[in-house]
Amino acid sequence: MECYECKKRIKEFLNDSMKSKTCVEFIDHVRSCDDCYEELSIEFLVNEGLKRLDDATSFDLESELKNKINKAYSKAKFYKSFIIICSITIAIAAFLLGLFLSTLFGY
Ligand SMILES: [Zn+2]
Repeated sequence: MECYECKKRIKEFLNDSMKSKTCVEFIDHVRSCDDCYEELSIEFLVNEGLKRLDDATSFDLESELKNKINKAYSKAKFYKSFIIICSITIAIAAFLLGLFLSTLFGY
């Protein structure tokens, strides 16, 4: 993912509205690009900070962001492999069904 696209998608990530595939690419990029990580943490601080202005409890937004990234990453990775496994299973099932039907009807 390019920096331009990454920065464009920061809000999408913070709203948890990002697709798994994009999410993995996004986080891979953010983890390797200081510039985009900086941008993401600023957006996150502003977002969360504003939400909690009335909240008197202290919060550690820096580690919360890291948590959010880690969670989103494992979730996205999981869904990604889940989708791959599903596609393989469907392909095999379709193949077996075809095989079964052709034996059944003697095509
Ligand atoms: Zn970047």
